Amino acid sequence: MRRAIFPGSFDPITLGHVDIINRALPLFDEIIIAIGINTDKTYMFSLEQRLNFIKKSYINEPKIKVETYTGLTIDFCQKLDVDFILRGLRNPADFEFEKAIAQTNRKLSNIETVFLLTSANTSFISSSIVRDVYRNGGNISSFVPKSVIEK
Ligand code: ADP
Repeated sequence: MRRAIFPGSFDPITLGHVDIINRALPLFDEIIIAIGINTDKTYMFSLEQRLNFIKKSYINEPKIKVETYTGLTIDFCQKLDVDFILRGLRNPADFEFEKAIAQTNRKLSNIETVFLLTSANTSFISSSIVRDVYRNGGNISSFVPKSVIEK
């Protein structure tokens, strides 16, 4: 079974994440969207809200599972018997950051990171800018799936 994990903060899930997930679906038998809990980070949306946004978006997609985890992503992969980490690339900054993490993970395990290049129409979307727009009362409906807007 070809299983991948898509780890992230998803604070909140955006149409950029959705684009990567939907395009990765034909490549894997199962994709586990995994919300990493980092105690050093503060989040705008609670873990429960972030989980619900994702679960609602993929309620009709049996190939998608949603989990939360703490600790190293590779340890979580080994626990769930996952061989691939899925990540999205938007720009050179993402590349530099992701390269170091993927190479470190390869040193520590056999887990391969698979990168999908962002789509032209979602490449500018980031959770942090969405949070900024939301915090200041702007309309975020062009950047996030329906499950987030419904909140
Ligand atoms: P993290 O805190 O781990 O970066 P994010 O939730 O911000 O978590 O992102 C998770 C993954 O989604 C990362 O690989 C990130 O590059 C990717 N991603 C986020 N937004 C986009 C986008 N607009 N297009 C493509 N990939 C994206």
